[in-house]
Amino acid sequence: MPDRFCGHCGEQLGEGLGAARHVPCEQSLRLEPPRFCAQCRRRMVVQVTPTGWTAQCSRHGELSDVRADVAEGAEGPEGPEGAHGTG
Ligand SMILES: [Zn+2]
Ligand SMILES: [Zn+2]
Repeated sequence: MPDRFCGHCGEQLGEGLGAARHVPCEQSLRLEPPRFCAQCRRRMVVQVTPTGWTAQCSRHGELSDVRADVAEGAEGPEGPEGAHGTG
């Protein structure tokens, strides 16, 4: 079983108590993109997009998180100056 690293603080994820240390990290990762690759602990290049984020590991490629509820059918409200008169 390969070692995994915390995407937030970059420390090794253990089991039991070791994993419990990273519970706050997991909560942060719900709100912000990870900074470290979970597989190799390299710093990732993070870009925040309107629909989520992407994080690029130079070795393992790109991770992305796109929120489906934002990405699909979420057209903004039509402004008052939408219709210009018909006919
Ligand atoms: Zn952590
Ligand atoms: Zn990596």
